[in-house]
Amino acid sequence: MAVRKALGRVLAEDVISTANVPGHDNSAMDGYAVRFADLATSGETTLRLAGTAYAGRAYEGPVEAGECVRIMTGGVIPAGADTVVIQETVRTEDERVVVPPKQRQGQNIRRAGEDLRAGQPAIHAGKRLRPAELGLIASLGVAEVAVKRRLRVAFFSTGDELCSVGTPLKEGEVYDSNRYTIYGMLTRLGCDVIDLGVVRDSPAAIEAAFREASARADAIITSGGVSVGEADFIRGLMAKLGEVAFWKIAMRPGRPMAFGRIGEGREGAFLFGLPGNPVAVMVTFYAFVREALLKMMGVAPISPLPRFRVPCVTPLKKRPGRSEFQRGVLFRENGEWKVRATGSQGSGVLRSMSEANCFIAVEPERGNVEPGELVDVQPFEGLI
Ligand code: AMP
Ligand code: MG
Repeated sequence: MAVRKALGRVLAEDVISTANVPGHDNSAMDGYAVRFADLATSGETTLRLAGTAYAGRAYEGPVEAGECVRIMTGGVIPAGADTVVIQETVRTEDERVVVPPKQRQGQNIRRAGEDLRAGQPAIHAGKRLRPAELGLIASLGVAEVAVKRRLRVAFFSTGDELCSVGTPLKEGEVYDSNRYTIYGMLTRLGCDVIDLGVVRDSPAAIEAAFREASARADAIITSGGVSVGEADFIRGLMAKLGEVAFWKIAMRPGRPMAFGRIGEGREGAFLFGLPGNPVAVMVTFYAFVREALLKMMGVAPISPLPRFRVPCVTPLKKRPGRSEFQRGVLFRENGEWKVRATGSQGSGVLRSMSEANCFIAVEPERGNVEPGELVDVQPFEGLI
């Protein structure tokens, strides 16, 4: 795949540097290339200016004893020279350059191969390519890279009350928003998405959707129908058609999430049965699904979402027993980062996610949080 097209894709093979980067010793500064041995140990040294080395246009010929060469940033260090004196510190008089004392041998030179040595892997397979990697690959003169195929993820929503965007709501119905957040989160992750729509709360309909999804996808994400209500069929069908690996998590929101599989091996697919509540969908996706999908995508190493501790300026209601992921806004005040909770924290209130830029992750054993106490935050700006 052409390098630019590969942005966000997962590298399938190491990218090996075929040459040293940079290719030659070159100047890190605008200045004068000198022979260190010419410089007086104390007091100034006067050198004869012999020519100029530009970036991309080298100085022909060696620098002889008593000479120096004007050199621009990126200019190849001419033969004979071993040190660059920055231009701000010298005095020039016609063809004479006066260098002050206390220079260090080898200063202001970027060494050949300093970035990368020929033959060494520049980037390992499993890396998700970001802008830095596109540039690094280009710096090696490489135009195409091998990437893994995208992970295929099928998803559908369950619920007799769900109405798809574009049709008027009937009494008691709600618009299906989960297929939109899930679409967005999967797309951001670089997955190929297969949207199977809204499926009625009927075992036969859900079973048919599972069969189609497992035939077409590597992983399946459902929302709703995974709790203990009369119309919650996801978990039973997961057990019938595959296996439930675990269900019920000590977290809030997201407690009823179930994980397992439909079918087996290459024919089957992993199944993430997410709760129906729109905020719970997003919380469980980032707490569980993201890293699992990255692993399936072949990403290595996988780094967890960063967490750090900041003071919380608003009180948080919390009962001990479960991990809680409240929605917060990280902000800076008088040079210090702090967090405040976004309005209503109900697990159905998507606006609390939309206004937030981080999760406030409160440890299971903790109770109410008073203003000023330290809490863990997980920023999600740019992620979601
Ligand atoms: P459930 O987990 O199926 O009991 O659903 C829990 C809550 O989430 C209910 O109030 C549902 O109406 C709501 N819900 C479930 N699926 C969706 C969806 N796709 N979009 C918006 N809300 C949903
Ligand atoms: Mg439901």
